[in-house]
Amino acid sequence: MAGERVDAMMGRRNLLVGAGASLMLAGCAGSADGGRKPMVPEGARDALRLTPIRATPDRITRITVCTRPFRAQGPRLEVERIGQKLVVHHYGHGGSGWSLSWGTGLVATEKAMALGERDIAVIGCGAIGLTTALQLQRAGAKVTIYAKDLPPDTRSSFATGVWSPDSRICLEQYATPEFKALWARMCLTSFQSYQNLLGLPGTPIEWVDNYFVADQANRERHEAVTDGRPPFADALQHELLPTLTPHAAEVPAGLHPFGSRYVRRNTNMVFNISSYARLLLDEFHANGGRIEVQEFHTPADFARLTQKVLVNCTGYGARALMGDTSVMPVRGQLARMIPQDDVHYGLFYDGVSFVPRRDGFVFQVIGPDDYYGYGDDSIEPDRPLAEQAVRTIAGLFPPPAFG
Ligand SMILES: Cc1cc2nc3c(=O)[nH]c(=O)nc-3n(C[C@H](O)[C@H](O)[C@H](O)COP(=O)(O)OP(=O)(O)OC[C@H]3O[C@@H](n4cnc5c(N)ncnc54)[C@H](O)[C@@H]3O)c2cc1C
Repeated sequence: MAGERVDAMMGRRNLLVGAGASLMLAGCAGSADGGRKPMVPEGARDALRLTPIRATPDRITRITVCTRPFRAQGPRLEVERIGQKLVVHHYGHGGSGWSLSWGTGLVATEKAMALGERDIAVIGCGAIGLTTALQLQRAGAKVTIYAKDLPPDTRSSFATGVWSPDSRICLEQYATPEFKALWARMCLTSFQSYQNLLGLPGTPIEWVDNYFVADQANRERHEAVTDGRPPFADALQHELLPTLTPHAAEVPAGLHPFGSRYVRRNTNMVFNISSYARLLLDEFHANGGRIEVQEFHTPADFARLTQKVLVNCTGYGARALMGDTSVMPVRGQLARMIPQDDVHYGLFYDGVSFVPRRDGFVFQVIGPDDYYGYGDDSIEPDRPLAEQAVRTIAGLFPPPAFG
């Protein structure tokens, strides 16, 4: 999935679930494609076995909605003098905020540190504010975060949680050579930062295999935009950093449990946002950082801060705070579900993505293209849509033997 792109493939290790407690779909009475003959040959050594997901609407624990802070021209990364303050703007990361945060944070940190002050305010405590604050500390600054909302109540807390560095990050027409060079640098920085966060207690970050499942082989996750609107630059990683993550590979029918369907596997990073945000907060505090809950209604309110240099990481909030209408909302809804310890693979099927987050499974209707939810700032949960997402994924598995 572009952005929260599920083109994730994986290492066989996680695929070959032990046959004991887990169900070998190939051997089930009801096959996954609605009664057709099971496709996995008896005893096939390399057959893919996946523990079925207990995807039933009654297991939904929460439905969350948030707005991606999209800017057609990409994230705003520039310095502005506002009254007596020097403000480094650092907002507008669309559907890529978690993924690119360490890379864009490094650029913002360089700009802030170049202003010569060592006592710095960060406005905002989402993915961008937290990672920027840590990078400023690592660069030697004393940092105070000021924010209206803190995790787990920031918009960042309601993200899917996958590596998606080119999701709704800019429109194709703004992907100039300069932007592409900057994006590639930010993407690489972030990617490497995430490799240092693997294997930690609480599993904040992990690699997970994902299966793109389709009824026809030529089916893609997203349709091209055909109504005249400019397309999103959603293939930057493929174009600029094609070897960064493992390539997708088809899993032949007969070696997967989804009947005659087309199946492609890839491997992608998952961010277990609860433990990851906790890790970031803990490090920030351990480095002597302070957090104050404060709301700013206009840029003039910055005058009340003691710091001369501020980094503005207000995300979608920048639209109202700065009067910046270049920040457009792109609505996205997640259905969260009780996790299962034995399910560590992702799925994409029929316009729905499933991410096996350890802090709660995620089911999401992705929509036909990246304009899905564009311009929609509503945040009311849509329960029927959440149930549709769950039922779509459930359709890949035989009905449970007991309720
Ligand atoms: C459904 C959905 C799924 C997504 N999935 C992914 C994904 O899988 N991978 C990925 O990389 N990205 C994903 N994203 C995108 C990602 O969540 C955003 O890019 C990211 O959260 C932006 O972070 P932020 O810190 O800029 O904004 P926020 O999380 O909104 O943080 C802004 C902070 O600023 C504060 N603030 C705002 N205005 C004010 C004010 N006036 N005064 C004081 N404080 C203020 C807020 O309280 C908050 O602390 C997804 C987004 C959505 C909506």
